[in-house]
Amino acid sequence: MAEVDKEKCVGCGACVQTCPEGAVTIGEDGKAKVDQEKCKNCGRCVEVCPMQAITKTEEEATEENE
Ligand code: SF4
Ligand code: SF4
Repeated sequence: MAEVDKEKCVGCGACVQTCPEGAVTIGEDGKAKVDQEKCKNCGRCVEVCPMQAITKTEEEATEENE
């Protein structure tokens, strides 16, 4: 599933428009968030994010500290 690094997200909304599942929304904090129930892990939001704020958690992505 995709996950948003809120430290990096600038709330541009590109991922929201890109997600075919409507899984990404901008939360009250102005940052993107992924509805894990809807996310199909297609990776489109990962590609479109200009800030590299979204990662797919099932890849061996290097987990940065929270
Ligand atoms: S990985 Fe695909 S389905 Fe999941 S939030 Fe990103 S664009 Fe949407
Ligand atoms: S594309 Fe990236 S920076 Fe823009 S709202 Fe989505 S997660 Fe945030």
